[in-house]
Amino acid sequence: MRSVSNSNGAFHPASAPDFLPLPQLRSLQLQRLQSIVQLAYDQVGLFRQRMSERGWTPRDVETLEDLSKLPFTLKTDLRDTYPFGLFASPMKDIVRLHASSGTTGKPIVVAYTQEDLGVWTNVMVRSFAACGLHEGDIIQNAYGYGLFTGGLGVHYGAEALGATVIPISGGNTQRQLMVLKDFGVTAICCTPSYFLHLLDQGPELGVDFKALKLRAGVFGAEPWTESMRQRIQANSGIKAYDIYGLSEIIGPGVAMECQAQAGPHVFEDFFYPEIIDPVTGVPVAEGEEGELVLTTLSKKAMPMIRYRTRDITSLAYDRCECGRTLRRIQRIARRSDDMFIVRGVNVYPSQIESALLRIEGALPHYEITLTRDQGLDNLEVQVEVTPEVFTDTVGALEQLQGQLNHSIETTIGLRAQVRLVQPRTLQRSEGKAKRVIDQRKL
Ligand SMILES: [Zn+2]
Repeated sequence: MRSVSNSNGAFHPASAPDFLPLPQLRSLQLQRLQSIVQLAYDQVGLFRQRMSERGWTPRDVETLEDLSKLPFTLKTDLRDTYPFGLFASPMKDIVRLHASSGTTGKPIVVAYTQEDLGVWTNVMVRSFAACGLHEGDIIQNAYGYGLFTGGLGVHYGAEALGATVIPISGGNTQRQLMVLKDFGVTAICCTPSYFLHLLDQGPELGVDFKALKLRAGVFGAEPWTESMRQRIQANSGIKAYDIYGLSEIIGPGVAMECQAQAGPHVFEDFFYPEIIDPVTGVPVAEGEEGELVLTTLSKKAMPMIRYRTRDITSLAYDRCECGRTLRRIQRIARRSDDMFIVRGVNVYPSQIESALLRIEGALPHYEITLTRDQGLDNLEVQVEVTPEVFTDTVGALEQLQGQLNHSIETTIGLRAQVRLVQPRTLQRSEGKAKRVIDQRKL
């Protein structure tokens, strides 16, 4: 094994698979893929039916490349088979259920056997170890506990790491700040937008982030940009790491950044990644951008074969400086579900975010409102700006507005109406941020 150490000089034994030589990793993946396809074929009616329609059996999977011949699993499949239709294990072997907060109608339900929970804990331990956390760290877990996978996923992983976990869950900003300071917290887990909110409220409640013991943030559960990372790090003095996951696959811990911060490494021994063209469904060339598709290689309760995540990214094949052989996904700043169309142009909230944060004076709090006036789409962007801009001359406000307008127009190729607002005008979220309000009548 390579000699690799994290910041306290210790290599966590659970991280060993992160450094497997590629031939060994690929052969492990193939072996696991073949057995998971067999399990899904034997136990899940929908999967067997789709395979049979194509005249395929699990025996047709002879190489990892053969995976691209198998049918996709869509989010609608989980809804259509609600609640337990995709389970591959009997109920007596299922020890945990989670569910997504469905915005429309029924939620989607996911299941775990004891073995699945073991895998989940394992990838969470490896996630924490990858960003340099270890025994002795004090981890404030501000992800929501409950049916959402964030809270419990982080919780059991942090405990197994040997860290001290504070299961504070989401919300109650004042208490979060008190605990951060008084308990000597060294790492926090939450959405990036909630961390910004904490950072914002800090001074008022006598908490100076740069004087805290806090050194790392494990941020996920919503798309965010590299510019947002730079802002967070500069304003808080901590390192901000990107963790990626989704309930359909396991929860948090599908992929996690190492200390090189070069995009999350996918825990490929358990989750096999592919990138496809979202329109044609055909795998793209190595390194090209497209939709991330994941296959769970070991999940017994509810195997997901070629699950379409709707997340837009690319896979990096080059060797990371940390020595991990696991491929990395480019940070997920875009979900195809978040895309909106204005005057015929596809726009992602993250494009607006990076356009705004490029300009000094703009704060990382913004809201996009879409309206339609006599058949014409209007794109309005409200953004909070530093208090100095408002106390300054009128000219300063206009100049900043002009810079922001220009930055957005050169990024998305459309004119937007930028409105500068006072700090703390826009609504804050305690979980996932809501960036877009679409008031257009269809
Ligand atoms: Zn790395």
